[in-house]
Order: sequence, then structure tokens, then C-alpha cells
Amino acid sequence: MNTNLKLGWIGLGNMGNPMVRNLLEAGFKVAVFNRSKDKETPLIEVGATSASSPQELIEHCDVVVTMLSNDEAVKEIFEDKTSGLLSKSFAGKTIINMSTVAPDTSRYLAMLCNEQQIGFIDAPVSGSVKPAQDGTLVIIVGGKPETYTHVKPVFDVLGKISIYVGIAGVASSAKLAINYLLGLNLQGLAETVLFAENNGVSKDDMLSIVNEGACANGITKIKSTAILSDSFPAAFALKHLVKDLKLANDAGLDSPLAQPLLDSYSKAENEGFGEEDVMAIIKSLK
Ligand code: NAP
Repeated sequence: MNTNLKLGWIGLGNMGNPMVRNLLEAGFKVAVFNRSKDKETPLIEVGATSASSPQELIEHCDVVVTMLSNDEAVKEIFEDKTSGLLSKSFAGKTIINMSTVAPDTSRYLAMLCNEQQIGFIDAPVSGSVKPAQDGTLVIIVGGKPETYTHVKPVFDVLGKISIYVGIAGVASSAKLAINYLLGLNLQGLAETVLFAENNGVSKDDMLSIVNEGACANGITKIKSTAILSDSFPAAFALKHLVKDLKLANDAGLDSPLAQPLLDSYSKAENEGFGEEDVMAIIKSLK
């Protein structure tokens, strides 16, 4: 594998942290920047270097990845006039945004980068913390094909597959679509378990019936442990799904379950479950 690219990484949350760890283990040189500096320490201990700002980071790297909460955070990191990624001329570099953002935001960032002769890829991921740790994410790629080829060695470490879907913005649309299905799955699982429980079926038995039968899938299996232990530390924070469902609605999703699904997760967030895992929807429905 070609690990010659010097990488910069911005955003060391639940996803960014294990992803950087995998790149370091694969032999890439990685410089990191995180708003809360304490999250950089465990990665510096295993070989990462730290940058004082996004501007300093990109100055010393070939490729910079952003893995941040939402559109506002990503735009701020790109556009901040004094220390942002685009605050000086960095022609010839490449930026990959792996955060889930609106397709319009990806197209906007692609345009800004294009004006400065910076390569841009939107590469949101399907899969949560465990696939991030295992390097088995599904990476959805939008942008120019030659830019994708340039950065593919990075994706080969982070994911089990990267799927090129078209120009910048298209990958973000695909990501919103798969997260709609994720929301439906978890809402359905929660409603099913609660309905069964209310009629005398234990959670344990109902989850076995789901997971041994044709309705089982990766996410029902992963989330069963949390339901059984009634413990929901965030792998994928519920607030992020609310954000994604809003973005999907803004991007034109108006199918029969789209609005009720957004209402249900928004209610859970308003009840204080936003920082917990998305499976905490079951606590709101209870
Ligand atoms: P997270 O744990 O909440 O981490 C968010 C990161 O963004 C942190 O590094 C945070 O910095 C940084 N951040 C937030 N606002 C910022 C700002 N204004 N300026 C600078 N930095 C800022 O999120 P995550 O779970 O890693 O998710 C990251 C992205 O991947 C999101 O777009 C999410 O939708 C997407 N995603 C997540 C999963 C998942 O299962 N978790 C799966 C697929 C896709 P601090 O440390 O300072 O707060």
C-alpha cells in the first residue's frame, strides 16, 4: 500500500479517533487538529502530531480529512478567515469531507476548493464506531474521478469498500438516503420490542425472534445489546440522526414515513436523549 501521502485530520470524535488510529497503524503520517485538545493526546501517544489550527495543518499535509458534527462546523473549519483550511492559498492539496452534511454544502465546498485549485471529495461513511475501529466502513465517494484515485489508499485503510457515485454532492445524497433507512430500522425495532413487551413477550425473547429470523440485519444485531442492558452510550448520537433526517427532508424526502420519523427522533432529542446513542429512541417511545 502507498502510504506516502502526508495526512491531516480534523475532528476526533467517536468516528475520527478510531479512523486516525487505523491510518497510523497502516503506516501513514498523520497530523491532527481537534477543537478540544484533550482528544488529541491518545493519538499523539501512538504517533500522531498536533497542529495548532486547520491552516497550520493543511500547510504541512497533502490531504486533509474533516470528520465533524455538522454543516456549520465543517463550513467554519473551511472558511474561517484567519485560521481556516481556505484562509491561504493551498493549490494542489486535497480536502476530503467525511462528515455527513447537506448535498448543497458539499457542492458549495467543492466550488470553493475548485476556485483555489484544491481537490475536493465528499466521502460520508455508512457504519458506526465498530466498523470505524475495524476499518470496515462503507465509504461513499463523490468528486472528480482522478481526485478519488489520488486518495483511494486512505479509503482502503478506513473501509471495506469505497463506492464512487458521481460528482461532489451525490455521495452526501446517498448518505442521507441510507441514514433514512437506518432511522426506519431502529424506530421499527424499538416499536416492535415495546409492543411485544406490552403483551407479555420479554425483550430477550423478542430480540432472539428478530435476530434469528428473516427480519434480522446488522443493525438489529448490533443494537440488541444496548436494548437488553438498557444502556445507550453514544456510538452514533441521536442528535446526529435528527440532523440527518432534517437534511434529508430539506433535500426533498417527502415519503409517507419521512415526517413522522423526523418528529419521533426530534421529540426524543427534545426530551434530552440527543447525546445518547440513536437506539435511545426506545426510551422516548416507552
Ligand atoms: P462526535 O463524536 O459528536 O464528534 C464531533 C467532532 O466534531 C468532534 O471532534 C468535535 O470537536 C467537532 N466539532 C463539532 N463542532 C465543531 C466546531 N464548531 N468547530 C470545530 N470542531 C467541531 O461525532 P461523530 O459521531 O464522530 O460523527 C462525525 C460525523 O460523522 C457526523 O457528521 C456524523 O453524522 C457522521 N457519522 C457518524 C457515525 C457514528 O456512528 N458516530 C456514523 C456515520 C457518520 P470537540 O471534540 O471539540 O467537541
